[in-house]
Amino acid sequence: MTDVRVRFAPSPTGYLHIGGVRTALFNWLFARHHGGTFVLRIEDTDRDRSTDEAIDAILQGMRWTGLDWDEGPFRQTDRLDLYRGKAQELLQQGKAYWCVCTPEDLEARRKEAQAKGESIKYDGRCREKGIASPKEPAAMRFKSPQEGQTIVDDLIKGKIVFDNAVLDDLIILRSNNYPTYNFSVVIDDALMGITHVIRGDDHVNNTPRQVPMFEALGYQVPQFAHLPMILGSDKARLSKRHGATSVLAYRDMGYLPEALVNYLVRLGWSHGDQEIFTIQEMIEKFSLKHVQASAAVFNPEKLLWLNAEHIKQADPRHLAELLVPLLTQHGYDPNGPVQPQGGLVAVIPHVRERAKTLIEMADWVMPFVTEPVTMDEEAATKFLTPAITPSLKKFAERLSGLSSLSKEDVDPVIQSVLEEDGLKMGKFAQPLRVALTGRTFSPGIHEVMQLLGKDRTLARIEQVLQRKTS
Ligand code: GLU
Repeated sequence: MTDVRVRFAPSPTGYLHIGGVRTALFNWLFARHHGGTFVLRIEDTDRDRSTDEAIDAILQGMRWTGLDWDEGPFRQTDRLDLYRGKAQELLQQGKAYWCVCTPEDLEARRKEAQAKGESIKYDGRCREKGIASPKEPAAMRFKSPQEGQTIVDDLIKGKIVFDNAVLDDLIILRSNNYPTYNFSVVIDDALMGITHVIRGDDHVNNTPRQVPMFEALGYQVPQFAHLPMILGSDKARLSKRHGATSVLAYRDMGYLPEALVNYLVRLGWSHGDQEIFTIQEMIEKFSLKHVQASAAVFNPEKLLWLNAEHIKQADPRHLAELLVPLLTQHGYDPNGPVQPQGGLVAVIPHVRERAKTLIEMADWVMPFVTEPVTMDEEAATKFLTPAITPSLKKFAERLSGLSSLSKEDVDPVIQSVLEEDGLKMGKFAQPLRVALTGRTFSPGIHEVMQLLGKDRTLARIEQVLQRKTS
């Protein structure tokens, strides 16, 4: 396939929903797989509901997930003259007309039709009036075909047949002179050369309204692919009730963008039984042929599992970069003197197996990147007893004579203390852990000492000894 051009066209009316990201992802993968172009277009012609904050959230979400666009972001409000010009063209060709029915009249007639059990679509009252330039506020309507069928060969859903008799004469320009979604989307998809419209299947019913407009304007009709809905575990449409739905909320909860993307690609698409994909693999393997037509169910536990798997596999430098902002919030200075031996990246292999999220991982890393240690008082009371402090002191004295903290060098020192003081390893290691990290959980005790380095190890034991004697 040559010259694939696809687009993601969010309306900036709220945060970027993960369903929207799934749509963006499928477009992006399709473009990348075919060496095509991915366009980002902000559909902001609904002036009452669109906000600049929502545009920011969309751009931030797209950047965080790594779904980079090749063209745009275009804003439809920068292109209003274009839509208005096209509307005039249709008007002049008799394919559109001015409608002066007021919203109140329309509502009354709709109610009447409903009461009589008739179709509630626009009754066409202004269709043949031939209003050239209305004096009062007016909307422009498209003359939808009323006979025959509109057939869409959807790349996912197959052939969909719509009876034109049910098509309304859609408003294309509102009385405030702003185009409606169904009109501006057609013009943009055509003029931006979009070859494949890949979008959520909540838009399936818009497609037969759009196809006649492509035709009326003399444009080539793109191919359509409507993605299955995403449902919550109760099979209702995914909403906040099922957990966070904003993409940036997942960033803030410590998810890796590649894990979220991996999870989202599996909502509707599969490649055999494979669950874990790198971005590169997704690009290589993605195909609309393997997108299912039926709805997909969102499973937060599986997403968490995938996140843990990606954490285990990620490049430590990548994880370290992602951790910096989280650690900084808790007092870490990436350029300051308090650093683990070997740098932040050296801690990663010792904590990544234990963390399902970056938030958890940051917590594991904290004892190595800040001073003084934050002591869990309960753990201190339990483990840093007067009975153990002489052993800790003896250990520190002997450790200070070592030139390396390798296991081979430190083990004999520990053994000598255990033997002389009649202690079992467990009885000594846990107080030592609490002294060195301020808590009862950490990587192995040797790893802790190596990451802290000799000076910080000794200083932390010294702090504990001070606290006991003061
Ligand atoms: N702006 C529409 C929406 O956010 C997208 C329409 C489309 O993809 O055609 O739902």
